[in-house]
Amino acid sequence: MTYFKDLGLAEPILRAVMATGYTTPTPIQESVIPAINDGKDVIGIAQTGTGKTASFVLPILNRIATNKKVHWPGTCSALILTPTRELAQQIAEGIQTYSKFMKVNAPVIVGGVKPGPQVKACARGADVIIATPGRLLDHIQSGAIRLDRTLQVVADEADQMMDMGFLPAIRKIMAALPAKRQTILLSATMPQQIRSLAKDFMHNPKEISVAPVSKPIERIEQSVRRVEKAHKKKALLGILADNSITKAVVFTRTKRGANVVASHLVDAGIEALAIHGNKSQSQRQKSLTSFKAGKTRILVATDIAARGIDIDDVSHVINFELPNVPESYVHRIGRTARAGRSGVAISLCDQSEISLLKDIEKLTGQNLLPTSSHDAACGDHKTGKSQSEKNQRKPKRARRQKTKSANAGKYVHTKKSRHPRKEKKPGAGMPADGLMRMLGESKSMAVSAAH
Ligand code: AMP
Repeated sequence: MTYFKDLGLAEPILRAVMATGYTTPTPIQESVIPAINDGKDVIGIAQTGTGKTASFVLPILNRIATNKKVHWPGTCSALILTPTRELAQQIAEGIQTYSKFMKVNAPVIVGGVKPGPQVKACARGADVIIATPGRLLDHIQSGAIRLDRTLQVVADEADQMMDMGFLPAIRKIMAALPAKRQTILLSATMPQQIRSLAKDFMHNPKEISVAPVSKPIERIEQSVRRVEKAHKKKALLGILADNSITKAVVFTRTKRGANVVASHLVDAGIEALAIHGNKSQSQRQKSLTSFKAGKTRILVATDIAARGIDIDDVSHVINFELPNVPESYVHRIGRTARAGRSGVAISLCDQSEISLLKDIEKLTGQNLLPTSSHDAACGDHKTGKSQSEKNQRKPKRARRQKTKSANAGKYVHTKKSRHPRKEKKPGAGMPADGLMRMLGESKSMAVSAAH
């Protein structure tokens, strides 16, 4: 077994890591920390939740701790690029945690706030800047920040940065860095754009891929309720009447939609806040802080909050609308079942969203779509109530009869799949992955490293 002390980290960093209570490094930390410490360029393929933030923050701090500090005005010795302001803030908090026994200047450079304090924070030079690409470019163009002394650059959630159209900005930023530097790229997936970015800007990178066998998705109880568009708000109120929903993120497709849903919940007496790109940075941060602290039960969000944000105890994710991009579904529901917990994801799906749901099923390899043969088990189009909720209000005998006749010889919708009701043998009719779980599949993480 590898321990943090085996990873070549300086004493103040080790002490800070121990203070967090972490006992051993996660697989990505075990592979990435020594590679960065060795000065190699690294491509890390890992999702949030794998401990990837510390995998690049710790070696960056290690270089700061072990090298003589020379600060040049407006420069930084390390740069971390992130797609969203919230993720930048979260990484900055990580840096604070792990550098609490050191002196580190790590300003956050993001849009949505006044640039003046940012210029001031960088004026004497920074150890590490955590930035979103757009605002960083503004500062580079105005001459407030220079990257010619930057020795390490990290592009975190690189695939999301591509999705958000940051590729031209990233190319400009990379071009402003010295040719002799260390480049680290972290991404959940490896689309072609990232491969070509790596080819153009990295030197013989070491590729480290961490595939969590126990992906959060496997610990999430997923269900889909067919609801008419006009009845979605009512269906949402019905779902939220359940007190076991202690902390939920409700996802909408649009910023306006998030505002409308949040107001509707507040009008119905449910504490809710909206978070999306049209809110000021201080509003976004305030909402997130209140939600994290448990002061607000419901956070209504667009996909901006779906990735990277690490809140441990989200009990439910509710997709008020399905996302246009199927990958976003996985990222959205990954907001629950974090840090080894389980979670529940409920999606409301109207007729116009069936094709989106099919795309999600294709991507995840799971059957979620209530077909006419098992609508009875999955929900009522008008109210969004599941059959079990409706049954609760009926006498037992009536429930038994209805369920029996509705399911006779048909397929029923389960947490993971549909399988024939008539089958009695354990595992029979189940997809291979379901059978594996029954047999006690290993929950360890698989790591593969290759040049
Ligand atoms: P990340 O993938 O960086 O978003 O981290 C996911 C979660 O794992 C965060 O809550 C971290 O605080 C936590 N974490 C990071 N490293 C470790 C570790 N070595 N042991 C236990 N938890 C960790």
